Amino acid sequence: MMTPVADRPANGDMHAADFYAANKASFSFEFFPPKNEESAETLFHHVEQLQSLKPSFVSVTYGAGGGSRAITQDLVFRIKKQTSIPPVPHLTCVTHTEAEIYDILEQYANAGISNILALGGDTPKHMPEHDRSRDAFRYATDLVRYIKAFGEKHGGQEIKDPRGFGIAVAGFPEGHPATPNRLVEMDHLKAKIDAGADFIVTQLFFDNRDFYDFRERCELAGIDLPIVAGIMPITSAPAMMRMADLAAGSRFPAPLIKAMLRATGGDIHDPPKTTREAVRRVGVHWATEQCRDLLDNDVRGLHFYTLNRSTATREIYANLGVQDSQALAEPPTQLMRPVG
Ligand code: FAD
Repeated sequence: MMTPVADRPANGDMHAADFYAANKASFSFEFFPPKNEESAETLFHHVEQLQSLKPSFVSVTYGAGGGSRAITQDLVFRIKKQTSIPPVPHLTCVTHTEAEIYDILEQYANAGISNILALGGDTPKHMPEHDRSRDAFRYATDLVRYIKAFGEKHGGQEIKDPRGFGIAVAGFPEGHPATPNRLVEMDHLKAKIDAGADFIVTQLFFDNRDFYDFRERCELAGIDLPIVAGIMPITSAPAMMRMADLAAGSRFPAPLIKAMLRATGGDIHDPPKTTREAVRRVGVHWATEQCRDLLDNDVRGLHFYTLNRSTATREIYANLGVQDSQALAEPPTQLMRPVG
């Protein structure tokens, strides 16, 4: 049973289409569901710390199954209730039935959530035998279409916006490993957009040229939605290695590798403990420069993969010389010179 709109808390949640129509860019942070009660408290502390940066939204990833999926929902509800930041839950197709997806959408509608990041998801490691063709939704496109239809049915009633949920989808500047043919991959992305997406959030990348090329290829494919750039500051050498795996083969440009080699004395794989701070500084500096360049090139958003911490993101803002996202969104673009 859905709760009437008037009974729900309001915290500035806006349909994505309206947000990007009114704002030049979004600034958002991504978290993953904590493992237990204690890490939930630590994470919430970091969420609160990042509140002062006035993000446009925070997103919460969706696990591969089991209890972590419920933890995602709990965290989304808590952020919605206890902070001023609009949460955007991730939702994946993998292993779900249609009834389960309906139930989750109903709960998000009841909680006053405005936007959802719809994803395919990957086959969980602990379920290698899982047959994806038996999932109710095989590809993210199918889920986008369903969320759109759900929104059209409940929009203006249980969901406050008549269009239903705003929908984000994933984009891959370096390409998605399951579709080596990049032209075909672009057709799949276009299908996902045509099914009803409102904006794209990209996988992390370390070379802005990959992002600009992706943006241009999207344009050529007739995709003119806001494309938000995924930024992951490298904070340690082991994290760099994990990241390369997680992003299914993210490319580290030679200048970044050289900087890391200098910082670690040549051993990126097993660097001396004394070089930890140097590695972190190089990673944060690199991400800062990526952000500066993207902002100078009219990016429609920066999405920070925070790894559930706040320090690196706060340092990037400080390095960019701003206190919060508002200063990033509305920078003065003219040199001021006193006359007389
Ligand atoms: P899809 O759009 O379904 O695409 C998956 C692959 O299938 C692509 O190679 C695509 O080209 C291909 N494809 C699409 N349509 C067709 C078709 N009709 N026929 C044949 N092939 C097709 N994973 C999680 O588990 N939880 C998360 O919270 C999460 N958050 C993410 C957030 C972002 C911003 C990104 C970039 C990724 C995230 N992922 C997450 C990982 C993501 O789920 C995987 O990378 C997944 O493999 C691809 O997701 P997708 O939504 O692009 O899937």
